[in-house]
Amino acid sequence: MTEIERECPTCRSRQRFRRLNAAEQAAVREKKGPRFFVGNLWRCTAEKCLWYQPYLNRGKGDLLPESFRGEETATK
Ligand SMILES: [Zn+2]
Repeated sequence: MTEIERECPTCRSRQRFRRLNAAEQAAVREKKGPRFFVGNLWRCTAEKCLWYQPYLNRGKGDLLPESFRGEETATK
């Protein structure tokens, strides 16, 4: 899967980001509304981090619901 590197405001360091999966996109839509564009959102892959943002715009990022916390630990 494509990954990018971004400064994560939650981790306060540079982290790898990957695109939101379908479940994450659905959660964002639930919060932001069905018209919210979720096709270009990336999330921080650091452990226990819920930060996501548009590809270039950190100012428009937000946090995923708590239920997505720790999901990345499964890949260890
Ligand atoms: Zn992070």
